[in-house]
Amino acid sequence: MTTSETRRELVDLTVALSRINSVNSTLDPTAPGEAEVGAFVRDWMRNQGWLVHEEWPAPSRPNIIGVIPGGDGPTLMVNAHLDTVGTRPDSFEITLTDDTIHGRGVLDTKGGLAAALLAAASFNDTPPPGDVIIAAVSDEEANSIGTSHLLEGWLPDAAIVIEPTDLTIITGHRGFGILELSYTGRSAHTGHREEGLNAIEPAARLVATLERLESDLRATAPHPLLGFPSVQVTRIHGGRELFTVPDQCSASIEIRSVPGRDTTDVDALTAAVESQATGGFTTDYEWTVMRPPFEVHTGEPIVVAMASASTQSGVGPSLQSAPFWTDAALFADKKIPAVVFGPGGNGIHSDDEWIRIEDLASCYDILRHAMASFGSA
Ligand SMILES: [Zn+2]
Repeated sequence: MTTSETRRELVDLTVALSRINSVNSTLDPTAPGEAEVGAFVRDWMRNQGWLVHEEWPAPSRPNIIGVIPGGDGPTLMVNAHLDTVGTRPDSFEITLTDDTIHGRGVLDTKGGLAAALLAAASFNDTPPPGDVIIAAVSDEEANSIGTSHLLEGWLPDAAIVIEPTDLTIITGHRGFGILELSYTGRSAHTGHREEGLNAIEPAARLVATLERLESDLRATAPHPLLGFPSVQVTRIHGGRELFTVPDQCSASIEIRSVPGRDTTDVDALTAAVESQATGGFTTDYEWTVMRPPFEVHTGEPIVVAMASASTQSGVGPSLQSAPFWTDAALFADKKIPAVVFGPGGNGIHSDDEWIRIEDLASCYDILRHAMASFGSA
C-alpha cells in the first residue's frame, strides 16, 4: 500500500516531468527533444545521492542513468523513455481530477518513470539485493537510439521496460520490418500502351503474391504466445496523370515477425519481392527498418519477481503479450531477460492522454516489491 504522502509525490513528479516539452525531435524536427527533461531527471537523481551518468546518443538526446548501489545480487535495470509524441495544439498544460492526470506524456511514459524513480528512492537508506539502475532514455518513439546506445555500455542481469500496460506483465511481442520498394517502367501515351511499361502492374502482382505468402505463413503452427506473423502492403503510390502509362510505382511493405522464425520469414518475403523483379522493370528495394521480436521465459527470475510483487501489492499477476513493439526487444537481443510493465489510463498518442492515479500508486508499489525481491533468494 502507498501512503497519501507517496501518492502526492507520485502525482507531483509526474506533473513536473510532463510539463517539460520533450517531444521527439526525430518525429518533429522543430521539437526540443529530451535535453531539458533529461537535465531535470539528472538533478532529481543527484538530489537523492545516486551515482548519475549522462550519455549523449545524439546532440540534445540524452540518456540519464542513476545507480542505487545494492548488495552482491544481480543487477536490475528499469528503463523508461523521456520522449513523447507531439501534441495538437502545442500544449503542455497538465490537468488533474481526483482520480486522473491528463496531458501529453503522463501515461507514455512519464508517470511510469516517476513511479520507477520514487520506488528506487525508497532504497536510499536500505540497499536492495543487487544494484538498481534507472535508465531514462531518449528516442523510444522513433528509432530507439537511446536504448540501443545504452546497451553498448550497460548490461544488467534483467530489465523492466516501462510502457503503459494496465499493470499487466508483458512477456512477449512481435518484431517488425519495413521494406521500401520501387518499380521503374517506361512512360508513353496510353494510346500507345505497347510502347510503355506500366510500373503499377508488377506492384499489383506483388500484392497478390504477398497475400499468398501470408496465408502460407499462417498454414504453419502458431507461436504459443504471439500467434502468426503478418505481411501487408501499407502504402502504395504510382502513376502521374491520366493518359500517361505510369513509369513509377513505390510501395512500403511491413512484416510483423514472431520469435524463432523471424529470419526465415523475412527471407521468404525478400524472395517473394525478388520473384516479381521480372518483365523489364527496374526493381529497387531495401529493408529500411528491422526490429527483432521479444519473448521472455516465464520461469525467468525477473518474471517471477514481478508476478510475486504484483500479488504482494494486491493487483495479482496477469502475464500477456503486447500488440506493439517496445525497447524490450533490444534487451532480448542482448540476451537480457526483460518484461514490459507500467500503469494504465488511456489516450496515448491522442489528444486526451491520461493516467489513473490508482495505477500510478500500484505501479510504484509493484516496482518497489520487485526491486526488493529480485535476486534476494
Ligand atoms: Zn512509450
